[in-house]
Amino acid sequence: MEPLTEAEIRASFVNCSKGEAKGLTLPARTEELRWSELDFLAWRDPRATQRAYLVARHEGEVVGLSLRATEPPKSRLRSGMCGLCMTTHGLVDVALFSARRAGKSGKDGNTLGLYLCANLRCSDYLRGKLKPDTPQANETVTLDERVARLEEKLHRFLAQVLETR
Ligand SMILES: [Zn+2]
Repeated sequence: MEPLTEAEIRASFVNCSKGEAKGLTLPARTEELRWSELDFLAWRDPRATQRAYLVARHEGEVVGLSLRATEPPKSRLRSGMCGLCMTTHGLVDVALFSARRAGKSGKDGNTLGLYLCANLRCSDYLRGKLKPDTPQANETVTLDERVARLEEKLHRFLAQVLETR
């Protein structure tokens, strides 16, 4: 993705208070991030790991989401799939992230959920920089196709969150 400045990131949040956006801890200094290898910027808050943030370019603007992570319920399922990069993980490595919807709807408590890689490093899984512990379904799609698929899913999710703005 095209690099963002810290100010752009902090100004991008659509579903949390200005105070939260101003006070949140960024994953690194923005000039140290490898933007060219990222499809979106996402990280767990190092000081409150149930909190996470996702920032992406979406239809000409920068959109940031504040997310809350919940561990998937214990069930007979032993694995789960990330809803963006489609990596299959053991249950500890996938988490359900919920985003308050934009505007009044979110203030009223309406959220949307998405299963994602628990460490939010979808871009690294896609590019083979991180290997999941779980065997993956055999896929013949290219990196470009996987990136395009991720972007489509990401933009669909962002559009749903923003619909109530
Ligand atoms: Zn993922």
